[in-house]
Amino acid sequence: MALTESDILRALELVKLPASGQSLRASGRIANILIDGGKVIFAIGIDPTEVEAMEPVRRAAESAVGGVPGVTQVLVGLTADKAPSRPAPSAAAQARQQAHGQPGPGGALPKAAGVPGVKQIIAVASGKGGVGKSTTTANLAVALAMLGLKVGVLDADIYGPSVPKIFGITGKPRLVSGRTLAPMEAYGLKIMSIGFLIDEETPMIWRGPMVISAITQMLREVAWGELDVLVVDMPPGTGDAQLTMAQQTPLAGAVIVSTPQDLALLDARRGVAMFRRVEVPILGIVENMSYFICPECGHRSDIFAHGGARHEAERLGVPFLGEIPLAMPIRETSDSGRPIVASDPDSAHAKAYLAIARQVQAGLSGKTRAAPRIVIE
Ligand code: ADP
Repeated sequence: MALTESDILRALELVKLPASGQSLRASGRIANILIDGGKVIFAIGIDPTEVEAMEPVRRAAESAVGGVPGVTQVLVGLTADKAPSRPAPSAAAQARQQAHGQPGPGGALPKAAGVPGVKQIIAVASGKGGVGKSTTTANLAVALAMLGLKVGVLDADIYGPSVPKIFGITGKPRLVSGRTLAPMEAYGLKIMSIGFLIDEETPMIWRGPMVISAITQMLREVAWGELDVLVVDMPPGTGDAQLTMAQQTPLAGAVIVSTPQDLALLDARRGVAMFRRVEVPILGIVENMSYFICPECGHRSDIFAHGGARHEAERLGVPFLGEIPLAMPIRETSDSGRPIVASDPDSAHAKAYLAIARQVQAGLSGKTRAAPRIVIE
């Protein structure tokens, strides 16, 4: 029998909170239960002042869940963000139910609430790491700003938050009031990164549960101001953390970045499937590192049999947004904090990103088209 959230919650009824004697389950502090075969990961919501007091509870929760038949490994993290008011099935579990034709508790897949002041949020995603997702996010964001939009960037890549580096940002965001942070700014964009919130030392395995609360915090507790588009750099991959994030973020659409190799395309296909599962429209696929431009002679070589992403997009019935070559200036500018669209806007590479941005804008405009103005003559 496969493990379920109910099995885990039942075990957590036996764990009591030291102050109130209330059961951990009833306290509503359990968030984001992820079950992967026999592996169980979840977070306990705490106040930052409770770290010491709640550590024994965390250990007790680990051993209680460790005793559930079928559990082979259990990891419990303490997260200093608001816990849900009552234990609810995770978004990933709800999405899975939906995928199997079972409606969520409300009868339909619950939709995440919008962020005040932010007109549209888009995700930039990839099936695996290292394909140039963050480089694409940064250049796409600058390009959208050049088209006249007010743009923000939210770096939610838990495994390698590289947006601050790409934009040459150092320092940490300031607290403006209560829990609200001011975003950082660069090249006219508002920028926030999970790298500012999660300690570099945080073990990878804990980042999944933590990110779900961190993304909510970054969406709603950052003074974004008025934005036309907020571009979210998603963590690579299509696991539970990504699925939950895709569902808990009120996304107007998703851009999938892929390299031309077959393996990456298979991953890209999974990315498309993931967004479809949570009913997020696919704005299109970008083929990055599509062909190689020799820095010496400018000669173009199709080292990876380029064009695969275009065919894949056609096959999947999603727009193909364009090709970005594997080119030294893109890497150099991206790695030195000056995205090429900002630092060399007249270059052919910048123009390629601008063309992608125009398509993204067109894809989005269908969804926010204002009601026609009625002119009475
Ligand atoms: P991801 O976010 O998918 O992990 P990054 O955007 O961090 O990938 O890119 C990984 C590395 O590849 C970085 O060093 C980046 O500068 C480089 N890179 C990304 N796109 C290109 C490109 N089109 N040409 C050359 N280098 C690139």
